[in-house]
Formats: sequence, C-alpha cells, structure tokens
Amino acid sequence: MLIDIGVNLSSARFAKDVPDVLENAQKADVAKMILTGTSVEDSRSVIGLCETYANDFPSMLYATAGIHPHSAETFNANAQRDLQDMVSHPSVVAVGETGLDFYRNLASEEAQQRSFEAHLEIAINAKLPLFLHERNAAVRQIEILHTYRDLFTDAVIHCFTSDRKTLYKYLDMDLHIGITGWICDERRGRDLQELVADIPLNRLMIETDSPYLIPRNMAFSPKNNRNEPAFLPWVAEGISAHRPESKQQIVADTGITAQRFFRL
Ligand SMILES: [Zn+2]
Repeated sequence: MLIDIGVNLSSARFAKDVPDVLENAQKADVAKMILTGTSVEDSRSVIGLCETYANDFPSMLYATAGIHPHSAETFNANAQRDLQDMVSHPSVVAVGETGLDFYRNLASEEAQQRSFEAHLEIAINAKLPLFLHERNAAVRQIEILHTYRDLFTDAVIHCFTSDRKTLYKYLDMDLHIGITGWICDERRGRDLQELVADIPLNRLMIETDSPYLIPRNMAFSPKNNRNEPAFLPWVAEGISAHRPESKQQIVADTGITAQRFFRL
C-alpha cells in the first residue's frame, strides 16, 4: 500500500486545488498520507484539512502537530499548551515536525533545542511517535535523542539525506528512516543511493515532501513545477533501483511499516 508520510498540503501552492491533488493521489493508488504540521497555526491547518476532506476521502488523511526547527523561535508556553491540546485530536498520528537544523540556522540553536525537547516531552506524554527533521545537526540531535530514547515510543527521521555513519547511529537507536525523491536525483542523491540498501526494509518509509523535491526520474515534467503525493510511486521506483527488492515489494513493505508506525 502506498503511504506518503510527508505531505505539506497546507502549502499555498496547493491552496487552489486540494481536491484535485487528492483525486490524483487516489488515481495513483496512494492510499494514505500524513500531512506535516510545521507551526502551531500550520498544524491547525492540516488538522482542518483532515476534517474538511474526511467524507470525500475517508481514511486517507492524517496529520502531525509540531513546530519546524526553522520556526523554533515561535515556541513558548502558549505554543506548548496548544500542541498538547492538538495531539489528542483523532487525526493527529505523530508529534512534529521537530528536530534540529544547523544548516540554515533560521532559529538560534538554543531555541531549536528547547523546542525539540518540549516536543519530545509532548510525544512521551501522548505516547505518539515523532516526525523528525535534521540537517547538519546529527551529533547534537543524536545526543538529545539518546537522553530520551527509553521514554519515547518511535521516531522517524524524515527526508534522510545524511551519511552512512549517521544512518547507523539512528538505526542503532531503533529509529525509522523516511526517504524522499532526493534519492531520484542522479547528482545530489548519489550518496543516498549508495547507502539506501543498508536500511532494513522494516525501518523504511517513503514520502514526497510535496510540493518540494520533484522526483527527477519522472517520465514527465509536472505542471507548475510542483511535486504532488501522486508522484510517490517514483520515489519507490528510485529506491528499488538501488535495492534488491522490486518496486512492488518496496511499496508493500513501506506501507505495512507506515501503518504500524503511525497506527493507521
Ligand atoms: Zn523537514
């Protein structure tokens, strides 16, 4: 079963045609998707989208609630309370997006760590898995995760693009790995292509991170230069080109893993 674990459906680039995007996904056999919440306001938006389309697209949409590291400066006591309330909503299946991004440092490192640790606490209390982002911050992120590892249930490093050493540290902590169309980029994705076979199949999940990261192995150029959940099969295709399993097997197993991980 095709499950897209990372869709930014609240993006302005989807605002005009959400029903078409969902229909396209359905036609491409994408059965379920997890909508990423990147701020308090945005988490509210994606929960709203789950509610709005629950009748027309039953059991298709789920959400995460969290604050992206880029927006970590917006984390405060009010935000914490809002997130705590949101995670009890039936559509919310994970806490995040959270984590550390020391590549762009759009928020101070202190603010990012404070927000990240608060998200860990929220996930632990709610017994929900974590949807994690990390860029150029693996050492600190792993240190923090180690501190809490016995307490939280599960976590996925979404859009993993790091190196083998980091991958093994995440796997040693029993984390899951999300792979996007990054792997389909013959130039930028080369490192990832070389290590994707090292990920145990039962720890692997797939995502488009749409509207970003159009899979470059696609046979056509999408309109508006926009990625969509409907293009998820190309991510599976890109992964299967560098693993022993067939595309069908990747789809089947990542679907089972996502259902188990997010308890869908
Ligand atoms: Zn991210």
